[in-house]
Order: sequence, then structure tokens, then C-alpha cells
Amino acid sequence: MVARVIPVDPFELVVFGATGDLARRKILPSLFRRFLAGQVPDTAKIVGAARTDMDSAGFQTFAKDAIVEFSPLAASHEAQLAEFLKHLSYVSIDARGKSGWAELKKTLQGDCVRAFYFSVGPGLFGDLAERLHAHGIVTPKCRVVVEKPFGRDLESARVLNKGLAQYFAEDQIYRIDHYLGKETVQNLMAVRFGNLLFEPLWNAQFVDHIQITVAETVGVGGRGEYYDKSGAMRDMVQNHLMQLLCLIAMEPPSKFDPDAVRDEKLKVIRALEPVAPEDIVRGQYRAGKDGPSYAEEVNDAKSSTESFIALKAHIANWRWNGTPFYLRTGKRLRARMSEIVVVFKEPPHSIFGADAGRSANILTIRLQPDEGMTLQVTIKEPGPGGMRLIDVPLDMSFAEALGETGTEMPDAYERLIMDVIRGNQTLFMRGDEVEAAWAWTDPMIAGWDKRREVPQLYHPGTNGPEDSLMLLHRDGRRWRDLEA
Ligand code: NAP
Repeated sequence: MVARVIPVDPFELVVFGATGDLARRKILPSLFRRFLAGQVPDTAKIVGAARTDMDSAGFQTFAKDAIVEFSPLAASHEAQLAEFLKHLSYVSIDARGKSGWAELKKTLQGDCVRAFYFSVGPGLFGDLAERLHAHGIVTPKCRVVVEKPFGRDLESARVLNKGLAQYFAEDQIYRIDHYLGKETVQNLMAVRFGNLLFEPLWNAQFVDHIQITVAETVGVGGRGEYYDKSGAMRDMVQNHLMQLLCLIAMEPPSKFDPDAVRDEKLKVIRALEPVAPEDIVRGQYRAGKDGPSYAEEVNDAKSSTESFIALKAHIANWRWNGTPFYLRTGKRLRARMSEIVVVFKEPPHSIFGADAGRSANILTIRLQPDEGMTLQVTIKEPGPGGMRLIDVPLDMSFAEALGETGTEMPDAYERLIMDVIRGNQTLFMRGDEVEAAWAWTDPMIAGWDKRREVPQLYHPGTNGPEDSLMLLHRDGRRWRDLEA
């Protein structure tokens, strides 16, 4: 079973980088699931493109293998998979070469939505855009989807934005941050703006602090070459964590409309204060019993790239003045877990006396594993022993509450690809947002480069460097436990 859907218009989707890891693990399985949900119309065309020499039959076999490997639904939907594969064709194209473009143009004949998914390194975005335009394949109805990383600093992001802007209008450009496609992240907006309960308390007067954690148990593995040039700040904070921070901190948009939402997110990014060096902790994992050290994995004993970062951010605006936002992300940590924690202040006065116990309400928004939300509330401890208070969770696991199982929850890529086809940019980053995010992170990176700072080493399977714990301890706070 796949979740209820709204039909979409016929479309042509060209996936550049169709033989790559992302296409195999995410894009092709997501398209298959949308097919099962009835969102791939009969006339829809999905064209794979990459340099590998292969015909359409070869690509269909490649796609079938990928879907069988990465979509649990494939086994029970063999006939549908065969039908889905009929939508797929392949053109061999080098983004920097001359051949294949005429064939691609011939393949795309429909007067319908036309989307180009650039699932290739950002160094090829400009080449693809230029050649698509030169060969007359760009139409007013077309859209282009670009993957992260969108640059490695403000300067390179500006160059990418300018390169794309030569051939596509901003409302044709879909910069993916797959965190925004997660159900829980969208639910965060539903909870904030669809209920009266939270919004009046959603400010510095009532919120003590906010924690955003994206923890992984895996190391850099095969991505070492890319990762060592990037680090946790560029790879995770500048995009995923900042997007989460924006959704938590933004003012209510006037409507759920792409520019209204993105205008509010941009205001948050622009209101972020520069972060002092003492409010940033960088770490790098040591070797452990089940894996090599970061330095060994990237094959550079002197690497000063961080595999962990924690920082304290302040938003200089009326709503959040005085409420710190603690962000942390890292690899080879104790648990794989992504969550946002809103810690409210304690009630100003306890009528039950100091002995009864007091604590704060905590809203936890869990992105993975087990998407859902929990609100910690204080109640009376049952029994005749007087008025003693305890904390209990009001639990809303989406899977349970909505009768969904893990296989039925749509993957972030499913939603985002369908949003591209529908022309809805709400969950995609606008060019000025991406630039503003780099403008905030660049000085931090330049600062530690200039000071020649080396990251603190931490043991794998832990909470990261000691100093990360101190970042909160010295403010009289503590991180939530890392537990899956
Ligand atoms: P990948 O496995 O290295 O695949 C790259 C793809 O690009 C291959 O299909 C490759 O096919 C094609 N390609 C390379 N050079 C080309 C050229 N000159 N002309 C045409 N096609 C070319 O990379 P990936 O992991 O799929 O990632 C793709 C993009 O998504 C990257 O920007 C990455 O940062 C981003 N991303 C990936 C993930 C992930 O989980 N993998 C997550 C987030 C973002 P040929 O060799 O056949 O040409």
C-alpha cells in the first residue's frame, strides 16, 4: 500500500547522472513508488542520461535492479514494475560533449511539464544548462532540479546561481534539500501554524533553548575524497541544519506559498548573529574497535577537516532575543538520530512547593528513526504519597497515529520530485537563501582556517568531543541523550 495521492499532469523527466548512486538508491525507487500511487501518467517519459554507453533496454535492467534492491515494494509488485519500466529510456550524453543532445531533443516531444534533474556534481550544472539551451531543449514550461552541495562558499554559490540564471528563471530552479521533503519537517509547520496551542508560546519569553541534532553512526566511508574538502559545516550545517532552524524560528508566513515561506526563512538566516569562536566545537573521530579513524579513512594523517561540529547560534530579532539555538551534527556517534528539541521554560512559580519537583515542557520532533513528535508534560505521580510531580511523554508516533507502516511513509525524494512536476517550490531553497546561508557560515570557516585550528579527537560511539558537552554545561543546560 502507498499513501493517498493527487494526480499530476503528464511530464517528461530527464535524470542526468542516471547511473549514479543517488539515482539508484533514491530517484528511481521514488519514481517507482509514485507510479504505484498513480502519479506517473500513461504518457509520462523518464529519460536517463549519463556518459555510460548503454541502450534503453540496458537502462531498464539497471533501473529494475536498483528498484528491487532499494524498494521493498518491488517484490510484491512485479507486474507493475514491468509496466513502470516501459516509461524509461536512456540517452548517452557527456555534459561537456557534443553527442547525444539531438537524440535527447527527439525523445522529448511532448507539450507538457519538462524537468531536468541534475544528479551530477555541481561542476557540471553550468555545462548542462548551457547545452540544453543551445540545443533548443529548454522550454518555458521546463524546470531544473539541482542537488547539494550548492557551492562550497558564498563566492562559488553566486557563480552557480549566475550560471543557472543565464538559462532558467528563479521560478524554474529547484534546489533540493531532502530534509525539507521529510514528513516530520512538514509536520513541524502543520503543528506550529495549524494549532493555536504552540504559537503563543513560541518565543524567547517561553522557550528556554532549542537543540537541533543530526547524528550518524557511520563514518565517511567511500565519500572520503569529497568529504575531506567539505567537512560537517559545509556538508550538513549550511544546508540541512540551517533549513531546520529556519522552519523552527521563522515568523508565520501569510500563506503556505513558496515565496511567502522562503521570504520568512530568509529573514531568519539574515538575523543570525556571527558565532564567536568559543561557541563552536569541531571534532574528528579516532579509530575504534570497529573502524579506522577519520584521518585513516581520508588517507591524510594531517587532515584538519571536522567530522563533528556543535555550535551555539543566536537570532537577533524580537521573537528570539535571548534564546540560544544549539546545533550539532557528526559522524561515528553513539546513535543514528535526527531531532529538534524545543525546551520550554519552567513555570514561574510552583504551587506544590520545592519538594514536589519541577520541570519544563519539552517538545521533541523526531526526524529519524521513527518519525514523530513527543511532548513532555508534568503530571502527578500516582499514589497516596502527597503531591509529587513526574514527567510523562504525550507521544505521537506518526506510523502508529496514522496507521502507516514504515514502508508506506513516502520518502522525501518522492514528495520533492512530485513537487517539481506540480511546480511547487515551497520545499526548495531559493538562490538568495542559499547565498545568505553561506554568508553566515563562511566567516566561521575562515576563522578556524586562519587560526589553524585542529578539531578535537573523539572516540567513536560516543556523544562527540567533551567540549561539545561543555558548550551547554557552561550555560547550565545539557544535550539530550543520543539514543536511537
Ligand atoms: P555518483 O554516484 O558519482 O554519480 C555521478 C553521475 O554523474 C553518474 O551517473 C555519472 O555517470 C554521471 N556523470 C559524471 N560525469 C558526467 C558527465 N561529464 N556527463 C554526464 N554525466 C556524468 O554521484 P551521486 O552520489 O549519484 O551524486 C550525484 C549528485 O547528487 C552529486 O552532486 C552529489 O553531491 C549529490 N548528492 C548525492 C547524494 C547521495 O546519497 N548519493 C546525497 C545528496 C546529494 P557516467 O559516469 O556514466 O557519466
